[in-house]
Amino acid sequence: MEDGVDLHLHSTCSDGSSTPTEVAERAAERGLSVISLTDHDSVSGVAEAQAAGEAYGVRVVPGSELSIKLKDHDIHILGYFLDIENDQLNTSLALYRDERRNRAERIVRKLNRLGIRITFEQVLAKADGAAIGRPHVADVLVEEGFCFSPNEAFNKYLGYGKTAYEEKYVMGPPEAVEVIHSAGGIAVIAHPVLYRSDDILPALVEQGMDGIEVWHIKHKPDDVRRYSAFADEHGLLKSGGSDCHGDGRGDAVMGKVDVPLSVFEALEAGRAQTSGSQ
Ligand code: AMP
Ligand code: ZN
Ligand code: FE
Ligand code: FE
Repeated sequence: MEDGVDLHLHSTCSDGSSTPTEVAERAAERGLSVISLTDHDSVSGVAEAQAAGEAYGVRVVPGSELSIKLKDHDIHILGYFLDIENDQLNTSLALYRDERRNRAERIVRKLNRLGIRITFEQVLAKADGAAIGRPHVADVLVEEGFCFSPNEAFNKYLGYGKTAYEEKYVMGPPEAVEVIHSAGGIAVIAHPVLYRSDDILPALVEQGMDGIEVWHIKHKPDDVRRYSAFADEHGLLKSGGSDCHGDGRGDAVMGKVDVPLSVFEALEAGRAQTSGSQ
């Protein structure tokens, strides 16, 4: 869409399949004016995406997607407008990337015990320096002929409660908010519909969240209305994006979620009012 925005995108710096440069290039092809690169536990693609964005005339907002646990719910938090040089942010993200690596090793051990002979080295090679996620393991399972598709790999082995499932070491909610704020950013609850119950949302807001993702590939028109009303009621900023992971990684397509530029303008203006901008 012309003059649209997409504030939730992944690259090869986490579990996306496009490089940060390709992400910016595609955004330009789709006529987007602002995007945010929000890799899991990483800001390492931001500078490259920004450089490419400058060449293509697309503004790239520095972001990241962090994982937290609250009342047994696995929740994702988007950080926007991050100072990617911030020490506290980088130390924290490095810790969580290390833990992702340890968890991938545990997943491979579980798979091996199930008789599935893939190696941790194959997973490491697939991630190629990125923050390692289950999609990298899924790709190896498909390539080695143990599954037909990543989706099958999740349904059989990697998904919550499945035979090779391993928990991820995650931040506490206050820590995620503090890390994002200390890096000058704002904390936004990602894809609330995926938590299956809105009951968790007020507790999340109490933890200091600044905003909520109202538009997302999994949000139907009713969800958009409900989360927009929730944001208004709780004085939260609104964000939106596709959560596109690139070709071969899920159904989300960049720019397919219709988010107008005015949403980004309100987000940016609202940011000036939050603690994040101090
Ligand atoms: P992780 O960060 O390692 O827990 O992996 C979570 C990521 O896996 C999500 O961000 C999605 O990109 C991907 N994912 C989750 N469920 C599925 C699925 N059923 N099929 C393919 N990819 C999935
Ligand atoms: Zn992902
Ligand atoms: Fe997410
Ligand atoms: Fe995401």
